[in-house]
Amino acid sequence: MIIGVLVEISAKMVDKVFDYNVPVELQSKIKIGIRVSVPFGRMTLEGFVLEIKKESSLSDLKSIIDVVDSEIVLNDELLELGKVMRNNTLSTLINCYQVMLPKALKAKNKGNINIKYNIFYKLNPNYDKTIKFNDKQNKIIGLVSNRLVSRKELVDISSSSLNTLIKKNVLLEEKKEHYRVNYKESEIIKNKLTLDQKKVVDEVVSNERNTYLLYGVTGSGKTEVYMEIIDHYLRIGKTSIVLVPEISLTPQIIDRFHKRFGDKIAAIHSGLSDGERYDEYRRIARGEASIVIGARSAIFAPLKNIGVIIIDEEHSDSYKQSDSSPRYHSRDIAILRSKYHNCPVVLGSATPSLESMARALKGVYKLLELPNRVNGKELPRVNIIDMNKSMKKVKGHFSNELLESISTRLEKKEQVILLLNRRGYSSFVTCKNCGFTFKCPNCDITLTYHKSSNTMRCHYCGYGEKKYETCPKCKENSLNNLGVGTQKIEEEIKKIFPDCRVLRMDYDTTSRKGMHEKMIESFKNHEYDILLGTQMVAKGLDFPNVTLVGVINADTSLNIPDFRSSENTFSLLNQVAGRSGRSEKNGDVIIQTFNPSYYAIALVKNHDYIGFYKQEMLFRKKLSYPPYYYICNIKVSGKDSKYALDEALKIKKILEKELLSTIILGPSTSSLFRINNIYKYNIILKYKKEDKLYNVLSKILEHYQSNTRIKIDIDFNPSKMI
Ligand code: ADP
Ligand code: ZN
Repeated sequence: MIIGVLVEISAKMVDKVFDYNVPVELQSKIKIGIRVSVPFGRMTLEGFVLEIKKESSLSDLKSIIDVVDSEIVLNDELLELGKVMRNNTLSTLINCYQVMLPKALKAKNKGNINIKYNIFYKLNPNYDKTIKFNDKQNKIIGLVSNRLVSRKELVDISSSSLNTLIKKNVLLEEKKEHYRVNYKESEIIKNKLTLDQKKVVDEVVSNERNTYLLYGVTGSGKTEVYMEIIDHYLRIGKTSIVLVPEISLTPQIIDRFHKRFGDKIAAIHSGLSDGERYDEYRRIARGEASIVIGARSAIFAPLKNIGVIIIDEEHSDSYKQSDSSPRYHSRDIAILRSKYHNCPVVLGSATPSLESMARALKGVYKLLELPNRVNGKELPRVNIIDMNKSMKKVKGHFSNELLESISTRLEKKEQVILLLNRRGYSSFVTCKNCGFTFKCPNCDITLTYHKSSNTMRCHYCGYGEKKYETCPKCKENSLNNLGVGTQKIEEEIKKIFPDCRVLRMDYDTTSRKGMHEKMIESFKNHEYDILLGTQMVAKGLDFPNVTLVGVINADTSLNIPDFRSSENTFSLLNQVAGRSGRSEKNGDVIIQTFNPSYYAIALVKNHDYIGFYKQEMLFRKKLSYPPYYYICNIKVSGKDSKYALDEALKIKKILEKELLSTIILGPSTSSLFRINNIYKYNIILKYKKEDKLYNVLSKILEHYQSNTRIKIDIDFNPSKMI
């Protein structure tokens, strides 16, 4: 028997199948999609079996060393999907396969993450009947004589008696896999759907195979619709995938699905340990869970017989893997998988991405709408405060209007959410005298001030140093912490409302495992009056007692050098506004801004997504941005900045010669020009239709594949322009 193996090294040069012999004693274990260990040069590597064949065109083949798995790791569908991904993202096939698997199934982690077992005992029918037993031993034998009994239960009787029985061969051991995640019994909670909701559900389940865009305002009952659709497919024996952004993958949403579907769900979120993830993965692969909820990579869940794929908050940039190869988008993968399974895809959002809305309006996707909140509930009133005018009347970072509103809610025992828009923003240290700012010596990025440790840190590479007392340049004692952090705002609130209980939720306070969940639970139980936080508080949360949402600084996310900054700002503000007044009581929203008439902020007032869409489309058209043009970012990086730039210029020349209908920009220094002493240049392509594109880019990658002085990464439809 000969097999074709794809080894686990990511390099373009070895990104192909190598033939190996299989020794007779291993042949019965070989299946397509299983991993084997093989000799490779002087190394021993693991790899996936992709082909089984009788002969090879090569003679003198090496033999495999062993078979790694007892069950298939990648099924036929995923094996094929990986090949399509490779072609669409121009990454290596092995990278495409690895991104589909939990850490435990990647070569370098083997051994660290184990399967856990529970141990059980049963009676050995052939035990030596001449042995005399004491009382406790007899009790144990009585228990195990007609069923499997867990070790724990028997240890409770007597561990020494148990050990004796094991030693004398009276008991036989049996191991069963133990899953670390527990789903308790479910209590089915189901709302009767409104007419609008029912229409959406009926359309999806009756007209399969479509990709739908469900445009529904915040609180319109989208999640309820998802559950009903899933229920439909569950009843006919089919499975479902639900993607939500990691940041909104909170206990709240998991709880809702859990209550309705019990242990049929498998929830994959950042709170799980690697071992727990591995257990969930095996439950999914074995068909023991039929509904998978997770973030971006859950789109690869090895479910069979998929009935529907749902992507909530489809506009979220967390669905695009942008930091490493393969740079895929979950939406694209969802559509590929839906073709294989012949099933619908539902993309849901209150602020769909411009790309998706444009496709829906062209009829590529089918548009479904939930224009109103459930049961006629009104959307919250939005009040936009011009901070230019308010400047004289502010206390710290709060306008009078916001302070008064907070005070009213506190009196009424209602709750408040405050958003500090930190996207692309940080507090940094600067000298008032000479203007010196501290930058990371590796990354050229402004260092962020951390009050709790009195240090300045780089958020890209982790570099840190103690905060200086005097300016290193002018030696004056005039250093100032600029920018505002959640800690600062928390202090201000406590000064103004000394009795108010403030819960701060940000990267620092939620980094410990389980903290995020705990905080949400205690805010829900009204142990706090104000929830103050970064983007984390904007998405997916559903607190019935919250009647005021305040945005401290709407503008910061507008300053990011990215063509999507208006879209991201509008969608963030609209999302966070949607957290207010979700239950009986009406809600208010107060947005503080220095740009009150800028459309991405002004249009939030009337929750006017369509108005925003139209205006933003004009801008995209004028500047040839998506969805009018596709974008591809070619990143050229290297330690030697001149060499990297020279090569980038050569690449640009080739592109200009070959791609005649493409707009080519750059090479420009990326806004994160130097990270960890690696210099980065971007070449940006804008195109509508360019038949030769993939071909030309593949050739360029091939040309540089063995050049260690520069690295080339290609990012189609980048989510961030860095
Ligand atoms: P969205 O996902 O669009 O923000 P949700 O599904 O979370 O909306 O619904 C908002 C609130 O309304 C939730 O508290 C939900 O339990 C409730 N809800 C949704 N649909 C119904 C319904 N048909 N009847 C009663 N309550 C509903
Ligand atoms: Zn750094």
